[in-house]
Amino acid sequence: MKPHYNTPSAQSCYRATFQGATVCHSWKLIWRSWAPPKVKFFDWLACQDRCWTAERLARRGLQHHPRCLLCDQEPETIGHLMLTCPFTRQTWHEVLS
Ligand SMILES: [Zn+2]
Repeated sequence: MKPHYNTPSAQSCYRATFQGATVCHSWKLIWRSWAPPKVKFFDWLACQDRCWTAERLARRGLQHHPRCLLCDQEPETIGHLMLTCPFTRQTWHEVLS
């Protein structure tokens, strides 16, 4: 017996879950780069906000420092650590120059 066409299948339900979602292809840049595997893995975790920053520790109710340990100016988030921390910005400037 053939299924009725209006009956949702597991596949159509799964696809509907992602309807309207933003597709990010940054994983291609990460995994196809020349960087060592441990760097790729860290970058992949950072892109998904899965690194154990103080912000993530706080979300889980775990002990954490209130501010960034590098600059002691702002809360430690992955965005701060990777982009806006003065220490990081100086490091990026020296690496890229
Ligand atoms: Zn900082």
